[in-house]
Amino acid sequence: MNLMQVLRHVDNNMKGLLLDLQSLIRQPSVSAKNEGLEECAKLVGKIMKNSGIKSEILHLGKGVPPVVYGEVRSKQNPSKTILFYNHYDVQPAEPFELWADKPFSGKIKGNKIFGRGAADDKGELITRIKAVESYLKTHGDVPCNVKFLVEGEEEIGSMHVEKYLKKYKNKLECDGVIWEFGYVDEKNRPIISLGMKGLLYVELSAIESVRDAHSSLAVIIKNPAWKLLEALKTLRDSNGKILIKDWYKEVTPFTKEELALIKSEPFDESRFKKEYGIKKFVASKKGKEVKKAMVGGPTCNIAGFISGYTGPGAKTVLPAKALAKLDFRLVPQMEPLKQLARLKQHLRKHGFSDVKIKMIHGEAASKTKISDPFVSTVREAANESFGKSIVSVSSAGTGPMYSFAKVLRTPCISIGSTYIFSRIHSPNEFARIDLLKKTTKCMCLIMDKFATS
Ligand SMILES: [Zn+2]
Repeated sequence: MNLMQVLRHVDNNMKGLLLDLQSLIRQPSVSAKNEGLEECAKLVGKIMKNSGIKSEILHLGKGVPPVVYGEVRSKQNPSKTILFYNHYDVQPAEPFELWADKPFSGKIKGNKIFGRGAADDKGELITRIKAVESYLKTHGDVPCNVKFLVEGEEEIGSMHVEKYLKKYKNKLECDGVIWEFGYVDEKNRPIISLGMKGLLYVELSAIESVRDAHSSLAVIIKNPAWKLLEALKTLRDSNGKILIKDWYKEVTPFTKEELALIKSEPFDESRFKKEYGIKKFVASKKGKEVKKAMVGGPTCNIAGFISGYTGPGAKTVLPAKALAKLDFRLVPQMEPLKQLARLKQHLRKHGFSDVKIKMIHGEAASKTKISDPFVSTVREAANESFGKSIVSVSSAGTGPMYSFAKVLRTPCISIGSTYIFSRIHSPNEFARIDLLKKTTKCMCLIMDKFATS
């Protein structure tokens, strides 16, 4: 196959890529609100078909968003299969008033295309589709078999993706998975990430009385907000260390190889602080400690806390109830259910057995070995397309990578087009057009190298 011809096709067809991306952005698909999911799945299927990819909408049952399956069998090399995992759902666009244009506009300004999903994950998805299209339009074939799994629940925790993987295991069989996203840093280096952290998401609630009371009664009625605060305070010290017994028990230290990789990873601390308007990191971390925490540090985070009156002015109220949402990032070997049991035990032991715990979501962490040959394939492709790249032991974020590694038994690697400050999950999300192009080429190169690796 003439690779130059394929890459030239990418260069000459960016207009088509942007038009398809615009149509995807303009179809809202907010999984949190169950908005537009079926429609968006159909649209993805249609775009795949137009690109020459055989597509099919898979269902699990009523109430579960469909998965779009795509497939192209290679005529010249049907012995190897790469799978692209992506998602067509997006985060809610609120607060609307902070968007410069409408959230689902797909507006292009200079090198940027704006809209919810522009980067996460519709921009990433379109790079994979267009890479395959570039082969098909120039050669009528692809270097290896290609499969797509595009789900609709990633932004709400991918709770059915493992069921899909199990039900359609034979269909989805492959030799390597390219993950749904990948960051590109401020120096235009793609970050090839070999893992993802896990997550345990819980809701803690304390109820004291049957209704809110006049706050003068605080002399005799206990305040559940205080109780919850006291309970939370026992979970973690001010340096971020989690105080729950055996929380870190299964965690294995970094290997020598991993430590070397972590050391070599660039991280611009002052730029990062500036971007978030902060002065210090947790526990005043610096240098290597910051990097180690990013790729392998467990967390206990208060994602939300609500109780009493939070409107303007004053209301002297004694709330009946307090509620906190917590997310714990987990690292490899930590099992969400085991950690949940430890949390429950901890609260009981500290006298908070009346604080209710509701588990919202749990998933384990996953990591592909540095020595896996798929890693060098992706790295070579990234270096050719971007000129340089960074390999990271793990992303700081969470995704269902563990399910893929477990069911499909293949390495999973994250690489993509998402500029690190592209405001994903925030107002004015955008994708950079230069990075969409480079990533599309990178995907072409990955397929080419993967076929012969
Ligand atoms: Zn997202």
